[in-house]
Amino acid sequence: MNSYDVAIIGSGPGGYVAAIRCAQLGMKTAIIEKYSTLGGTCLNVGCIPSKAMLSSSHHYEEATKHFEEHGIEIPGEIKVNLEKMVARKQAVVNQTTGGIDFLMKKNNIDVYEGLGSFKDATHIKIDGKDAGEIEAKNIIIATGSKPSNLPFITLDKERIITSTEALELKEVPKHMIIIGGGVIGLELGQVYYRLGAEVTVIEYMDRILPTMDAGLSKELNKVFKKAKCKMMMSHKVQSVERDGDEVIVKAENKKGDLVEFRGDYCLVSVGRRPYTDGLNAEAAGVKINDRGQVEVNDHLQTNVPNIYAIGDVIRGAMLAHKAEEEGVFVAETLAGQKPHIDYNLIPGVVYTWPEVAAVGKTEEELKEAGIEYKAGQFPFRALGRARASGDTDGFVKILADKTTDEVLGVHMIGARCADLIAEAVTAMEFRASAEDISRYSHAHPTFAEAVKEAALAATDNRPLHV
Ligand code: FAD
Ligand code: NAD
Repeated sequence: MNSYDVAIIGSGPGGYVAAIRCAQLGMKTAIIEKYSTLGGTCLNVGCIPSKAMLSSSHHYEEATKHFEEHGIEIPGEIKVNLEKMVARKQAVVNQTTGGIDFLMKKNNIDVYEGLGSFKDATHIKIDGKDAGEIEAKNIIIATGSKPSNLPFITLDKERIITSTEALELKEVPKHMIIIGGGVIGLELGQVYYRLGAEVTVIEYMDRILPTMDAGLSKELNKVFKKAKCKMMMSHKVQSVERDGDEVIVKAENKKGDLVEFRGDYCLVSVGRRPYTDGLNAEAAGVKINDRGQVEVNDHLQTNVPNIYAIGDVIRGAMLAHKAEEEGVFVAETLAGQKPHIDYNLIPGVVYTWPEVAAVGKTEEELKEAGIEYKAGQFPFRALGRARASGDTDGFVKILADKTTDEVLGVHMIGARCADLIAEAVTAMEFRASAEDISRYSHAHPTFAEAVKEAALAATDNRPLHV
């Protein structure tokens, strides 16, 4: 039987990054993945394919709606070839998952293909291509998550679908009904409205992206409305049924009336659930809480001392970069180091266009905590760079402590915000004040100037360009 210092179950961004860091730190490392490709949800059916489809559909929108204003004329009709678009997406996925194979080899990590299940706290049985059993001193559970569903919905995966099927459709829906105005619903909703589908978003709460700063929800809602999407807030879905090629969704509105929606596809995007099916965690004595999460302490250690857990399968935001940080954290802990993660500074990004990005506290959270703060906001339309490219929607908002001026939260919506948020994370990691940000140079003309201007507005309300 092969023996390891550490074995990792699951090869998503949590698992494969943990494996690399363990190997870098000199541990003999194995990784077990039930699918034939590595990379987990993120690389196969999550972050990467959704961004490929967002990019392709963005190009189409630019070509059909904006090229003309730039003086670019395309003779003839511009058409979507969805089959080709999906094939390109798959090629991007294949290249990316292939990259993980390379990284595993480069770091001498043994890869086992098959379902890993605990026999006891140090032995894992593998069922599948590489069937057998391995032994490991330490084990990291990185089994990720699967889409959640509502109890009364039957996902037929044909017309009543999750994000996984929505990334593989054979036709552009005529009318896509989306249940859940969260990250998946909005990213994939934007893909399909750009490609010509009518889109209806049904959200239970009173706004889209309910966990983000309300200002961002409001601004993105405007973008979807401008694209003629129906944004049905405060609607509680009661039933979803198939009628031939039609899907009928009934939802109760605020007044208690039942409203009916008819479409040809229904995307259910109401969150994801931690995944431990088939893991046989009981055999090792690992505790799973009533939310289905593997329970961990501050060191990401389960109740069984040599077993750790990371990523979507434990508490916290279900984000690839959070899983990666945790993978590194556990590897370094096993090596006797003292790593640290500040969960308040894990940024959140929605890859629509305009992009939405945030880090730290929202205004709602600061109010609730009774923290006095100042807010400085700067609109993208006041930036030369934004006007040059025609990306004038959005703003950057900086929230700073009223007394100390320390930055407590940064919330932005606009072009390239997914990248701009890194500046805010860096500033907050170093506990910068708004004045600090306002005093260092930002290249002109860039979108990043909005960050400086918002900092000037937060410091003492003296932005230069509005
Ligand atoms: P996963 O990536 O889910 O990987 C777990 C792996 O474990 C899987 O490969 C699974 O097959 C394997 N596994 C499970 N059980 C076993 C077992 N018993 N034996 C062997 N293998 C097993 N996050 C972002 O940060 N940015 C984004 O842009 C983003 N976009 C997304 C878009 C979509 C459509 C979706 C669905 C998710 C997106 N996410 C995004 C979320 C992100 O994918 C997850 O947070 C991330 O993949 C979690 O990583 P993980 O390693 O914890 O688990
Ligand atoms: P989510 O939690 O972002 O959004 C789910 C939405 O569904 C919420 O707004 C919620 O209020 C709503 N909802 C819940 N029950 C409902 C009901 N009965 N009727 C109507 N609406 C209802 O979840 P998601 O969009 O499914 O994404 C799942 C996870 O994947 C998220 O945790 C997210 O972090 C991750 N993800 C991240 C990215 C990214 O980082 N860009 C992209 C996609 C997914």
